[in-house]
Parts: sequence; C-alpha cells; structure tokens
Amino acid sequence: MDGTVGSSARRVLVVEDERTIAETVAARLRAEGFEVRLAGDGPSAVEAARRIQPDVVVLDVMLPGFDGLEVCRRIQAERPVPVLMLTARDDETDLLVGLAVGADDYLTKPFSMRELTARVHALLRRASRSAAPAAEPEMLRLGDLEINIAERRVHRAGAEAHLTPTEFDLLVHLARRPRTVLPRERLLADVWGWADASGTRTVDSHIKGLRRKIGADLIRTVHGVGYALETGR
Ligand code: CA
Repeated sequence: MDGTVGSSARRVLVVEDERTIAETVAARLRAEGFEVRLAGDGPSAVEAARRIQPDVVVLDVMLPGFDGLEVCRRIQAERPVPVLMLTARDDETDLLVGLAVGADDYLTKPFSMRELTARVHALLRRASRSAAPAAEPEMLRLGDLEINIAERRVHRAGAEAHLTPTEFDLLVHLARRPRTVLPRERLLADVWGWADASGTRTVDSHIKGLRRKIGADLIRTVHGVGYALETGR
C-alpha cells in the first residue's frame, strides 16, 4: 500500500453528483484537514482515483455515466482502497451488502457530517493499522490456504485470490485463531474499529465476498453467533 507515512494530508475522493451534498461533505472533510477532490460522474471518478490515488473514497450509488457499484469495482480492480458507499435508503444498503460489491462501509442518506467524518476516520485507522509493520509471522499457512501478510496476498491451492483490503484484514483475523468461533460483534470491533454492533450486516457481506474468492468451505457460519475459519484441504 501507500508507503508514505507522515506529514502529507490524507486524500479523500468524494464522488457525488448532487452538488450541495458534494460541497457540504468536501467542506467538512477539508475542515478536518483532509485534501479533498470531487468527481460528479462514474467515468471521471475512475479517472480521478487513478490520478490522485486517494486514501479513502466516499462514493454515492446513484451517479450519471455508470453507477457507484461499477465505480467501486473499477477502482478496486486497479488499486485496493477503502470505500465508504452512500446509499439512498436502508433497503438499498441491504441490497448492496447482498451483492458484496466490495465497499468497506455504508452510510444511508441523510447522514450527519459528524457521522460521515467518524466513518472516514475509522476507515483510515484500519488502513494504517494494516499497513503498519508488526512483529508477527509474514506467512500464515492453513492447509492449502497461504496468507502472505507482508505482501497482503492470498493463495488457495496455488491460485491467487484477489481480496479487498477489508476482506484481507478479516481473513487474517480469522486465520490467527483457526477453528475458533469469532462473534460478529467482535469482528466488527477488531477489524472495523466499531464500538457498537449496528453494522453486523457489514461483516456478513464481507464474509460472503471472502467465501466467493477463497472457497465457501473454509468459513463456517455459527448461526446467531459468528464465523470460524476451518483449515484448508
Ligand atoms: Ca447521486
């Protein structure tokens, strides 16, 4: 990931075609010390992400050109970056969680600027934590599953699985305690840095994405409790 740690301002790309919302969000994030760039449609969002290499993307779902889901896919395909998706309704969030589009967090409109900045800060804390060098083994091997922590790469049976930053953090978390059931609330607190349990659906969506990429057999659901990683074949 981004190796420059230090004085340079964190960059946020805000993708929103409703000008009032875009400018309100941008003003608040700038007041918090972020460098903010705006994009108002799908194609220019993808182009801006490529050019400015943001640390976080705040991404509205409904956009001209192509929608936020497609923007999220294209941005993540080029370079993993935390994405906070803005949705119009709670049921739209449910739909997107079900689709496992690769966003790291969701916020339903209307939202307070305080809530938005809290979510952006939480995403950055997680990203910097996962980028920080740690005194831990560089590789985790569980059966045919191989996790290279230093390079943030995952292989199963020799084939590489391309995970989003959040999916990777979640997998490492489960892999450090194999065959141990981790409650969704705990995963939410440890991986996402959330203190309350209001976002456990977010955990489910990322588990779904992980299963699709590394094989459904590896992650066991303990109904009503949480998830456990089984060892690969
Ligand atoms: Ca919009």
